[in-house]
Amino acid sequence: MDWDKRNIIEKGNYDVIVVGGGIAGISAAVSAARNNLSVLLIEKNVNLGGLATVGLISWYEPLCDGEGKQMIGGICEELIKLSAKYGFDNLPSKWGGSGEFPSSNERYSTYFSPTVFSLALDEYVLENGVKIRFDTLGVYPVMEGTHAIGVICESVEGKEFFGAKVIIDASGTAVVMERAGVPTVVGNNFMSYVAHGYQVENAENLKETGNTCKFRKWIGVGSDMFGTGAEKNMRELKGITADDVTKYILRGKKGLLKKIKEYEKNSYDIMTLPGMAQFRTIRRIVGKTDFNAIDGEIFEDSIGSCGDFRPNGKGKHYQLPFGALYNEKFDNLIAAGRIVSSPQGDGWEVARVIPVCALTGEAAGNAASLVVKNSVKVAEINIKELQKLQKNNGVLF
Ligand SMILES: Cc1cc2nc3c(=O)[nH]c(=O)nc-3n(C[C@H](O)[C@H](O)[C@H](O)COP(=O)(O)OP(=O)(O)OC[C@H]3O[C@@H](n4cnc5c(N)ncnc54)[C@H](O)[C@@H]3O)c2cc1C
Repeated sequence: MDWDKRNIIEKGNYDVIVVGGGIAGISAAVSAARNNLSVLLIEKNVNLGGLATVGLISWYEPLCDGEGKQMIGGICEELIKLSAKYGFDNLPSKWGGSGEFPSSNERYSTYFSPTVFSLALDEYVLENGVKIRFDTLGVYPVMEGTHAIGVICESVEGKEFFGAKVIIDASGTAVVMERAGVPTVVGNNFMSYVAHGYQVENAENLKETGNTCKFRKWIGVGSDMFGTGAEKNMRELKGITADDVTKYILRGKKGLLKKIKEYEKNSYDIMTLPGMAQFRTIRRIVGKTDFNAIDGEIFEDSIGSCGDFRPNGKGKHYQLPFGALYNEKFDNLIAAGRIVSSPQGDGWEVARVIPVCALTGEAAGNAASLVVKNSVKVAEINIKELQKLQKNNGVLF
């Protein structure tokens, strides 16, 4: 080992370490653990769910193609059901829900409570045999050439080393893979700062209609994903320096306070502020294959299919290539979630939403199990075996 072990506490070894407990990391960890691997899920926050919960996104984009066909199953479907299991929100009856005040009547999607879903995610992850480590920042992968032997982390205990046979980067920023030397690309973002609020008018509406689903409400500043509402002449923003992240957050908060000041006193309160910066695209890897979201494109190494959540995406069918999850020069690093190899534009737009993050997460966990069990590199796993594992858990192709 050529790394400096002074002042580093060795914390034991796992088959798989997953860095990041967002939707992708949760899916990856559960999928790996179901293959009887020892799995450690490292999360810098103290709540699971990442942008979906801590970041208050709270809308699960559709699992269907918008024309009645279900496109994604597996862990992604387990998670959408879990997201609406408790609290106010219901899936449409067409997609197996109670049908009572559904968030959407048409597509297989739902609002969910970010706080209650996060609590339920702890239970889900633990029941599946994953070990969780909160309040722990994955700092550096320790590399022997192109092979990672573990991750250095920082926690309240100090600097720690966790050994692993495979590392899954589900950080949303590709922090592990970038620091291992995997080529990456940085994304552009419009300003977004969205919180959750209560408004007297919503309470009145709830009393009148009984529709609890409409009670929780986003309040935000900035623009939507298309840049609508963006301030004039504002440059697109990136989330890869601490200064930029701080500026982005402060700008968002200032805008939100300005908006609150415009409301009549006693008519409004903020329930929760986002616990992480709402950058849509921070950094993604350059993988073996790019996912470009081309309708009908087929991949031999497909890990499953998805649709397109966007208003103009109805009826579109995509396959996700396993090649988007790794760079072939690195033996045992796998990407999951919004950092997979998908160029800015349609590819990244489609790959970064919650259902697709769950899909790539599940594939990353299954692929890790094949790396461990067959003692091969990520690039050498048997794709048919990976596809079988995916299908066995209900992933659709
Ligand atoms: C404004 C906005 C609106 C959106 N709207 C929707 C929507 O309506 N519906 C939808 O489906 N999707 C939406 N998305 C996209 C979606 O929410 C996210 O892309 C998706 O949830 C990302 O999941 P992930 O697991 O890949 O990453 P993340 O959610 O970013 O999770 C990464 C996790 O890793 C942790 N982490 C990061 N670095 C480290 C480290 N070094 N050590 C330990 N832990 C670390 C983070 O704390 C986080 O928990 C939206 C995104 C934004 C920004």
